[in-house]
Amino acid sequence: MNASHPVRQKIRAELEAPSALRRFGSGWISGVLGLVLGVAGLLLVLSLRAPGSFSMPEIRALHPQVWFRLVLHGILLAAFACSALSLALRRDRTLGTAGLLSALSSALLGGSSASALAPDPTPFFLGLDFFVLNVLFTGFLFIPVERLFPKNAEQAVFREEWREDLFYYLVSSLLVQVLTFLTFAPAKSILAFAPLTGLRAWIGALPFIVQFVAIMFLTDVVQYWVHRAFHRVPWLWRFHAVHHSAKSMDWMAGARMHFLEILALRSTTVIPMFVLGFSAAAMNSYILLVYVYSTFVHANLGWSLPVLEKFLVTPRFHHWHHGIEREAIDVNFAIHFPLLDRLFGTHYLPAEKWPSGYGIDGHPVPSGYVEQLKYPFRRADEKSPPTGSP
Ligand SMILES: [Zn+2]
Ligand SMILES: [Zn+2]
Repeated sequence: MNASHPVRQKIRAELEAPSALRRFGSGWISGVLGLVLGVAGLLLVLSLRAPGSFSMPEIRALHPQVWFRLVLHGILLAAFACSALSLALRRDRTLGTAGLLSALSSALLGGSSASALAPDPTPFFLGLDFFVLNVLFTGFLFIPVERLFPKNAEQAVFREEWREDLFYYLVSSLLVQVLTFLTFAPAKSILAFAPLTGLRAWIGALPFIVQFVAIMFLTDVVQYWVHRAFHRVPWLWRFHAVHHSAKSMDWMAGARMHFLEILALRSTTVIPMFVLGFSAAAMNSYILLVYVYSTFVHANLGWSLPVLEKFLVTPRFHHWHHGIEREAIDVNFAIHFPLLDRLFGTHYLPAEKWPSGYGIDGHPVPSGYVEQLKYPFRRADEKSPPTGSP
């Protein structure tokens, strides 16, 4: 990709416009919404046209549903309406035009009534529609709350390095098939070796809420030690440093994680849940929870939750894990229960205070997805390349 492409540069400059040019009534909000919904609509229409290549089977199963088509129709109409509003309100027409062109392209490709061009012969797919729904769901859930209750009110939605973090979302959503397969492979092997039939039947029959809390706890115990190893073992730290290189905390920051770390973390944390025979309902509910929860703890949310933070991990607890100051190094490894950090001597949560900044002292990790992917494999004495695009 050419970072200096003039259209991309103009769109980026508009998205990252100074706050005076983003105020309510300036056509910025409608322009961003028009562009986001226009691109989302276009990618969803592409996944309808080539479902074998760009649609996740679980979402593909929804394609014939009337409500699914209505939602897509609504997205495209909203993209048109928001882009038109932005064009009317805003002097700079970049966002409005880009949104309108995306929505128009979606309509030309068949819009909400688009059908598959041809069956795909391969069993492999990229989760393009998963990416769209993932970002729309998470963004629409967290951005309004972050705007209302920000920890850092100065931080814009399109803050420094937002493109990198969005790219992390893109890669892990596109590769959902391979990630899911590899995530469950070790657990399946263990189960084949040790079927544990009696224990599994007993656990699977426990009340839902007991199973759910047990999954949270067991997963967090494994997560705690794997996470701690990623901090304490030097060659593992080079992978995990990518996650800690985020200088801003928000709903996008948690997505920044080296691909191999995602695999290591997920494939180990699912072992107790999968091997011990928890019910599908409890496992699926937990997977949804951990998805939203891990976004929540990174979010730019300034809530003070003095009672809750004694029992459950809150944004302030995990923000301290990402803090740049010395006392924030190697603390707060848990992702659900601070109790684990108390038990193992790594708990740090000074009353009311937040860290003064985020990232790693000296910022050793280079910018850009590809550079970060290569970072753990580089010789330690190699100099970081200049910062670039993701
Ligand atoms: Zn960490
Ligand atoms: Zn984190």
